[in-house]
Amino acid sequence: MSDCLFCKIIAGEIPSKKVYEDELVYAFEDIAPTAPVHFLVIPKQHISKLSDVTEENSAVIAHIYEVIAKIAKENEAMKDGYRVVSNCGESAGQSVFHIHFHVLAGRPLTWPAG
Ligand code: 5GP
Ligand code: ZN
Repeated sequence: MSDCLFCKIIAGEIPSKKVYEDELVYAFEDIAPTAPVHFLVIPKQHISKLSDVTEENSAVIAHIYEVIAKIAKENEAMKDGYRVVSNCGESAGQSVFHIHFHVLAGRPLTWPAG
């Protein structure tokens, strides 16, 4: 998707601070962090949002959760717990339409989120 911000980040056309990368996914620091740990995990394949996940493309979503667990094991600031959030649709707060999973940690996180 040539006009997608996160596809441009994956392509290196827009700089980002890499947290993790493999053949399927890319993880990078959020530009406006809301917690001491706040990074985004995205599939390299363009999927717009959570409601576009299907039987055909869901394997990468499972892989994203494996990657998050792996990163968490190696990050001291995530040892007491972390939150994973994917906003689906504008009403839910989604502003970038390339599916992404926020990973938040490093401070007490209240629930339910506002
Ligand atoms: P959403 O609002 O769609 O759930 O989350 C989008 C996230 O992307 C926001 O937390 C926002 O700070 C982050 N973001 C937006 N533009 C950029 C960018 O150019 N670089 C990085 N690293 N993060 C971005
Ligand atoms: Zn994209």
